[in-house]
Amino acid sequence: MRTAALIVAAGRGTRLGADTPKQYLDLLGKPVLRRTIEAFLLHDEIDLVQSVIGAEHDDLYFDATQGLDLPAPVTGGDTRQQSVARGLAALKDQGIDRVLIHDGARALVDATLITRVCHALDDHPAVLPAVPVVDSLRRVTGDRVEGLVDRSGLVRAQTPQGFHFMTILSAHEQATGPDLSDDVAVAAAAGVPVVTVPGSDDNFKITVMDDLRRAEDILTRNTGGPMETRTGSGFDVHRLVPGRPLMLCGLPIEHSHGLAGHSDADVALHALTDAILGAIAEGDIGDHFPPTDDRWRGVSSDIFLRYAVGLVRLRSGHVTSVDLTIICEAPKIRPHRDAMRQRVADILETSTNRVSIKATTTEQLGFTGRAEGIAAQAIATVALPAEPVTLDVR
Ligand code: MG
Repeated sequence: MRTAALIVAAGRGTRLGADTPKQYLDLLGKPVLRRTIEAFLLHDEIDLVQSVIGAEHDDLYFDATQGLDLPAPVTGGDTRQQSVARGLAALKDQGIDRVLIHDGARALVDATLITRVCHALDDHPAVLPAVPVVDSLRRVTGDRVEGLVDRSGLVRAQTPQGFHFMTILSAHEQATGPDLSDDVAVAAAAGVPVVTVPGSDDNFKITVMDDLRRAEDILTRNTGGPMETRTGSGFDVHRLVPGRPLMLCGLPIEHSHGLAGHSDADVALHALTDAILGAIAEGDIGDHFPPTDDRWRGVSSDIFLRYAVGLVRLRSGHVTSVDLTIICEAPKIRPHRDAMRQRVADILETSTNRVSIKATTTEQLGFTGRAEGIAAQAIATVALPAEPVTLDVR
C-alpha cells in the first residue's frame, strides 16, 4: 500500500497583508509550508510528499524546503481544483494507492488526524475530516439578520481529505463543470460516497494575521495537560581509517584519521539519534535510515538527529536534555567541546544548557585504547504529553 500526500500551496494569497504569500511566512522559525510538509514527511503511513506550488514561487519553495527529501514541485493552475488535478496527474505513474490532499496553510495538522484519515481509507474510498459547528448560524444580508440556519447535520470541512487514488483521479478528470471548493466536492460530484472522521480545532487554515498568532500560541503553549518524562540511551562505534575527514557532533575535526561508515559516520550524532529514538520507542537509526539505501550515502548525520527531534515534536513533546560521552584516545575532545555543544543545541533547536558533552579514554585498553575506532554513548530525556498507563493484554 503506497500512500502519497499532495500538499496544495499554489495560492498567491497575501491576505495577511505581507508581501510574501501566506504559506511562506515564518511561523516560529520555520515557514508555514515547511511545517505542513514535515508533518507528512515524518508520518509512518505516508510514503511520498508531493507539493503543488505557484508559478512564481520556485525560489520561495526551495528556500522553505531546504534539506527535505522531496520530489520536484508541480506548478499549480488558476484554481485550486486545477492545481489538485495537476498534482494528481504527476502522481499517476508512481504506484500510488491512496492520496491525502491537504492545504499547505494548515500547518498544525497533527499525526493522529493523519492516522485517522489513513485508517478510514481501509474501508471507504473518500474520507473528510470534519469538526462540528458549535456556534448557531444566521443568514444575513449586509448587516441585517434574515433568518436562522439549522446547524444540525452541518460540519466544517477540513483537510487532509483522503481518497483511493484511482477514484479521485477519475473524479477530477470527469469534473468539467464550475469550480468546486474542495476534493470531497469533486468526489461527491462523481457519485463517490464520502465518510467523515473527527477533525481537529488546531487544524485551521492560516489566512489572516490573527491565525498566525493563534498558531504561534498553540505551538508555544504548554500542552496544558501533564507531561511525562521518557529516557532513552544510544551507543555507537565507528572504525578510524586514514584518508577520511573526521566528523564529530556535526563538526569537522582536524585529525590524522576519520571515521568509516555509510553516512558521514558521525558516531556522536548517531548515538544521540538512537537515544532520542529510544526515548520515544521508535526503533533505531537503522530502521529509519537503512545503510542499504543509497540516499544516505555520505550524508551529514545532522539529518538523522533532526528527524528524531521531529518525531518528538510531532507527539507534542520536546527533548529536555541530552548527555553524550565520546570514548577515544585521540583526538582531544576538550578543545572542541563548546563548539560541539553549540552545534548539537542548534540541531536540537534548544539551548546549550540542555546539552552535555563529555569525553573519556579507556586507558589505552581495547579498540578505543588502540585508536582503532571511536565509541559514543548518549542518554536523552524527552518530555511527552502523559498517556494513561494501560495493560496491553495480548
Ligand atoms: Mg553509526
